[in-house]
Amino acid sequence: MARRRQLYEGKAKVLFEGPEPGTLVQYFKDDASTANGTKKGIITGKGVLNNRISEYLMVRLGEIGVPTHFVRRLNMREQLIREVEIIPLQVVVRNVAAGSLSTRLGIPEGTRLPRSIIEYYYKNEALNAPMVAEEHITAFGWANTADMDDIVALTLRVNDFLSGLFLGVGITLIDFKVEYGRLWEDDDMRIVLADEISPDNCRLWDSKTNEKMDKDRFRRDLGRVEEAYQEVARRLGILPEAGSRDLKGPEAMQ
Ligand code: UDP
Repeated sequence: MARRRQLYEGKAKVLFEGPEPGTLVQYFKDDASTANGTKKGIITGKGVLNNRISEYLMVRLGEIGVPTHFVRRLNMREQLIREVEIIPLQVVVRNVAAGSLSTRLGIPEGTRLPRSIIEYYYKNEALNAPMVAEEHITAFGWANTADMDDIVALTLRVNDFLSGLFLGVGITLIDFKVEYGRLWEDDDMRIVLADEISPDNCRLWDSKTNEKMDKDRFRRDLGRVEEAYQEVARRLGILPEAGSRDLKGPEAMQ
């Protein structure tokens, strides 16, 4: 780690210069914080689990043709990624009401939404990531309408695929946040999935008991945070300690 030049440090990850031009190394920390920074802490082992979970989900998404920045996992906490120009949006998809949607619109948590809803938040910490409409996004040039068409199409595919994948292991995908970047190859530009997909940015509820298996356990002081992240990895079949459950893939649940 020390050998590499650090380019950026965020709340949960650090980006280092990669081994070749156009690549970066993404390092996953154990640090946890809430969106507005009011609560900070450490979730032991979170970085290792998120690195593995995000690798697994990005690879599976790649297999169905969703372009991602992921190249390969390097070690327990690091992965090699393609360098992209991050589009300054947090793209949130919701299948079931929870969190800020429930607070803002008074819809009880756990209410299945009539259809999946996509929301956009402007990635600007000083402004506390305000929600924005496509009008703001195109007017201020954060993305153009062609970019937005790609983002919506990719996001719906990601949602359908991940919803099914998680449901297969007894987990309901309530909502999640993704980010996209522009990947330049010569003069061509493609929008690709970037950042990470992990229990830090998904709401994952046990399908039978509705028990929360994500960062809300930290945000809401519910305890057993590490265990919840581990259980997500275990169900996906990617926790090495799971013994007979090897590293191949998810185990189907009834
Ligand atoms: N989310 C995220 N980063 C953020 C804000 C939200 O990853 O800075 C994720 C969050 O984990 C949840 C979804 O986006 O899965 C929707 O979050 P919401 O708007 O309900 O905000 P919250 O209640 O988490 O503040």
